[in-house]
Amino acid sequence: MAFNRDFNSDPFIVIWELTRACQLKCLHCRAEAQYKRDPRELSFEEGKTLIDQIYEMNNPMLVFTGGDPLMRPDVFDIAEYAVKKGVRVSMTPSATPNVTKEAIEKAKNVGLSRWAFSLDGPTAEIHDHFRGTAGSFDLTMERIKYLHELEIPIQINTVISRYNIDYLDEMAELVEKLDCVLWSVFFLVPTGRGQESDMISPVEHEKVFQWLYDLSKRVSFDIKTTAAQHYRRVVIQNKMREAKNQKDEIQYLDALTQQGLTGSIDGLGRAPKGVNDGNGFVFISHVGDVYPSGLLPVKAGNVREQTIGEIYRESPIFQDLRNPDKYKGKCGVCEFRHVCGGSRSRAYAMTGDYMESEPFCVYIPKALRKKEKTTN
Ligand code: SF4
Repeated sequence: MAFNRDFNSDPFIVIWELTRACQLKCLHCRAEAQYKRDPRELSFEEGKTLIDQIYEMNNPMLVFTGGDPLMRPDVFDIAEYAVKKGVRVSMTPSATPNVTKEAIEKAKNVGLSRWAFSLDGPTAEIHDHFRGTAGSFDLTMERIKYLHELEIPIQINTVISRYNIDYLDEMAELVEKLDCVLWSVFFLVPTGRGQESDMISPVEHEKVFQWLYDLSKRVSFDIKTTAAQHYRRVVIQNKMREAKNQKDEIQYLDALTQQGLTGSIDGLGRAPKGVNDGNGFVFISHVGDVYPSGLLPVKAGNVREQTIGEIYRESPIFQDLRNPDKYKGKCGVCEFRHVCGGSRSRAYAMTGDYMESEPFCVYIPKALRKKEKTTN
């Protein structure tokens, strides 16, 4: 289903922020979550209409996020409606006392595909600092036991920052030990409560990408990255080195892109073609505002006024984001722009322009290297 999907008409994944309410106060919260629910949240009935519209977009994956989705008492009714329609739903609840055995049982009964928990460090000290709540690590460990008992596949989400970069080996060991199906590794974008000073450097990004690629070859879980489109470039470069086929890089990439095969390259985990903000990816806020991603706060419309399909397909913001030839700076001339394109969210967060170049990529595109040689 996913590989042949045309991202100009249908996204691969839809993220719906069911609520912004959450009991935690994480250091890098994108949503700047609040303790109380917003009365303007999409209602259950509006949610059902939204799910119908999402299904019409060639049935993409649907993720319930927050805030904490469990702060909505109707979360499992919404999930049930989606699952009965045939939508694959997963959820990213916060590790709070709301995650009871009963809640997990309900999730299992309605047929939730996967449960994702955040773990930002291999120890309580690191993780709890990050999440701003003592006891969050221990609670997560305990709830993972429930998930295993009920045989619900587990995903771990980790935000890479200067707080945990020195503990990544231990973190990977923990993900393996916890028998997770997917490790979703987020690279910090300075938006919401995320601070630029907490980010790792561009060179460190590159080193972590290489480390992740090597790791992907020896672990049983899949690895997926978020806000790290240039990881795809690192994977492709590695594959090419391994195949000792460095003769015609561009031709190789073009062939892959044209055949829609970039998603089948080993090591890319769950990602199909080059998913990027607004390109295979769409985010709906708790009040129905539509954004290219939760990390790119440029509103393209609201589902109370237009369908999600109309906004995704026709908004000039989304259309521009799906056109890497229009990107500025080095991303715009890079031979990897159609498979990578850099994080549009990070470009926006750091320059104010989502079409600008990814500021945390060390790669110098061939076109610029050639230009440099000619000028010298
Ligand atoms: S320059 Fe841009 S498109 Fe090229 S690899 Fe870096 S982030 Fe990706």
